Amino acid sequence: MSKFVYLFNEGNSDMKEILGGKGANLAEMTNIGLPVPFGFTISTQACNDYYEAGKKISQYVEEQILAALKTLEDKTGKKLGDPTNPLLVSVRSGSVFSMPGMMDTVLNLGMNDETVKGVADLTGNARFAYDSYRRFIQMFSNVVLGIDSYYFEQYLEETREKKGYHADPELTAEDWQEVIAGYKEIVKKHTKKDFPQDPKQQLFLSINAVFDSWNNQRAIIYRRLNKIPDHLGTAVNIQSMVFGNMGSDSGTGVAFTRNPSTGEALLYGEYLINAQGEDVVAGIRTPQPIHVLEKDMPEVYEKFIATCQLLEKHYKDMQDIEFTVERGELFILQTRTGKRTAQAAIRIAVEMVKEGIIDKETALLRVDPEQLDQLLHRRIDDSYERKQLAKGLPASPGAATGAVVFDADEAEQLGNDGKKVILVRPETTPDDIHGIVASQAIVTSRGGMTSHAAVVARGMGKACICGCETLKIDLVGKKFSVGETVVNYGDIITIDGSTGEIMLGEIPMIDPELSDEFLLLLSWADEVRKLGVRANADNPEDAGKALEFGAGGIGLCRTEHMFMDPKRIPIVQEMILAENYEERMIALDKLLPMQQGDFEGIFEAMQGLPVTIRLLDPPMHEFLPDKEELLVEVTKLQMTDPDSSELKEKEYLLKKVNQLAEFNPMLGHRGCRLGMIFPEIYEMQAKAIFNAVVTLIDRGLSVEPEIMIPLVGHVNELKAMRQLVVETAEKVKEETGKEFNYLVGTMIEIPRAALTADQIAEEADFFSFGTNDLTQTTFGYSRDDAEGKFLQAYIEQKVLPENPFAVLDQQGVGKLVETGVKLGRQVKPSLKTGICGEHGGEKSSIEFCYQAGLDYVSCSPYRVPLARLAAAQATI
Ligand code: ADP
Ligand code: MG
Ligand code: MG
Repeated sequence: MSKFVYLFNEGNSDMKEILGGKGANLAEMTNIGLPVPFGFTISTQACNDYYEAGKKISQYVEEQILAALKTLEDKTGKKLGDPTNPLLVSVRSGSVFSMPGMMDTVLNLGMNDETVKGVADLTGNARFAYDSYRRFIQMFSNVVLGIDSYYFEQYLEETREKKGYHADPELTAEDWQEVIAGYKEIVKKHTKKDFPQDPKQQLFLSINAVFDSWNNQRAIIYRRLNKIPDHLGTAVNIQSMVFGNMGSDSGTGVAFTRNPSTGEALLYGEYLINAQGEDVVAGIRTPQPIHVLEKDMPEVYEKFIATCQLLEKHYKDMQDIEFTVERGELFILQTRTGKRTAQAAIRIAVEMVKEGIIDKETALLRVDPEQLDQLLHRRIDDSYERKQLAKGLPASPGAATGAVVFDADEAEQLGNDGKKVILVRPETTPDDIHGIVASQAIVTSRGGMTSHAAVVARGMGKACICGCETLKIDLVGKKFSVGETVVNYGDIITIDGSTGEIMLGEIPMIDPELSDEFLLLLSWADEVRKLGVRANADNPEDAGKALEFGAGGIGLCRTEHMFMDPKRIPIVQEMILAENYEERMIALDKLLPMQQGDFEGIFEAMQGLPVTIRLLDPPMHEFLPDKEELLVEVTKLQMTDPDSSELKEKEYLLKKVNQLAEFNPMLGHRGCRLGMIFPEIYEMQAKAIFNAVVTLIDRGLSVEPEIMIPLVGHVNELKAMRQLVVETAEKVKEETGKEFNYLVGTMIEIPRAALTADQIAEEADFFSFGTNDLTQTTFGYSRDDAEGKFLQAYIEQKVLPENPFAVLDQQGVGKLVETGVKLGRQVKPSLKTGICGEHGGEKSSIEFCYQAGLDYVSCSPYRVPLARLAAAQATI
């Protein structure tokens, strides 16, 4: 017969799967000699057995429970139901993963009309005995009989009022007896039966109830949210009671061995004198800080401190500990790894290495890379109560306060005047970039986590909320509304990009700090990681940020963002609108020195580290004015000023915009297809890059640019574009008499490129997997449409495990990456490979990139620390 029940001295902390977290740790603490009230654990297998038997405790399990109960009775010298010397126990749930508050606990079990008298006699404290009994009736009725606690609380309050009391401690033993009588009436009224008096029956009903609570609604939802499998089941712990409500020499509390918010190595906790465990959590009375215990009971405090230190050393991590003091004697009731903020996680990990408790690798594994985001952005002071106006997708973390504006130009104007503004738009386009730069944060009512606004905001480390569909934006009226609330242009709002919440008015914030511990931890990460980490940066400021956060180079410099500069847009438009080569060259000649300046700035900022520059990628029409807006302007001019030259210009522009419009711009004339049709554009960009290299060489800096051709699907595209770049380099070398090195490579972002990577590698010095477009083209999802329209439903219905634009789809898109690396390296073993999509900054995708043998990941500057840590974790 398999074993379903374990005495506390039969288990240990490695048995979480069988005993649950709580049971395994109670066993561990028992075995290292800590004062744990004795008991036993009914295993998670017994829970599964219970469900298999049709929600019934099998006879063989029952026998093992009764045998363990006998041992417990012998050990304590008390007996369940014995009127003169009754054993009282708690029945506590505990699953493998902690699910705080999700399942149920019953305290003081074994109380009935007879044993309560025994307890009163034994303790000489009738008031305590009856108080404990009424607590038991209330908890048992709620957890096991399903009667809402409200009825009991209501009754207790009426009694208090009737007697003119303010608080529970004023009630006498007789008062509690009266309450108990009333409680029993309530039970009878709801169940049509008397409150069960038989302690064994109480026990088994409670065990059943704990097993049942595994499948209560909130537990199911909690498991779904935290990806905890349903089949694990919960264990049940039966433990003899100790009482913190026996008077002023008793109490109960909870403590963390270190501060869970800051990580400071100081005991942090709360305690209540003369109370039972649930009083602290329920918030009926406000607990005292733990150091008050030092004054109340100095010896107990000393012993508790020693126990906390012992537990932390033993588990080698910060612990969250429940304790109870019964008449001056300390008992430990629970210990577990304490939850903590990112700041605390880092400080604790680093200090534990210094204290010799853990090694560096363990420290690196102790911090969740995803949590680091919290530290790199301004955030709302959590002590402030939030009043949420609306909620969208938490697209880019951080918090911001500012005046609402609805237009990028206005944002820029006000922003440049030093005003703090938040740009609110239905969506953003590359045209809005100047407004985004000038804003504190971005809010859109449409678009998903990888929409333009989200990607750009994350890249800049700005807070952003996307897809906030309850926002009804009225661009003309310059206002938005949420239900009845109207927010006008200039009104102040605060947003939290980490939660997606929008709030009215200003809310206090705290600044991010890169603590010394954080920097130290990252330096340890650099020691162990084998995967390079670069950043995506388009300008010297971002490049500087990337360097500050420890990037080893730039993996993606998008040149189109340079084209978006408001001072350049007219020239870019001139280039696009050119009717012929000559006209186009005039515009390109104007752009050349500007681009050259951009590259010089970036090379200089990166101080000789590698910089990968992608030649122009987006469809041309993105640089032209919005069609609808243009139409409105033309119509207006036709009515007001039909002969003006302005109208002629605008009409021409409209014609051109219409010509360039595409049904499917993302699959249209973009990427290297632009370079193929208008080679002079790529030629100008290559020339600007090489000129910049020469300038820097003159200034004594060595630079080796990596020129990247986007959206290649066929080797012939790369062949032609490579030749163009090489010829341009030769020309610059000839003109300047300078020698320099450079690489020419390509993005792998079309499935065909990955599948023919061996051919493509012949023409490439490096591959950079552009997993945003590769995901888009592999799934055949338009990224901008998918997120708002069906992706959310797909994830809810478990069609997809995750948003593939955020977390790399390893089975599909990942297979293409692996294939690309393998085929490419067959032809060119030294081929440099990297990834530059959004996935380059996501934990599980980074681990995948390491496994796939990539040389580096590239992500937004603000995610570089995360990537350094995740890359280190991948190797451990
Ligand atoms: P949760 O998992 O919700 O914290 P617990 O099983 O830990 O539930 O119990 C709830 C409260 O009851 C805790 O404060 C705990 O310390 C207290 N408690 C549980 N068992 C006992 C016991 N045997 N004696 C005294 N207090 C107990
Ligand atoms: Mg607990
Ligand atoms: Mg792309």
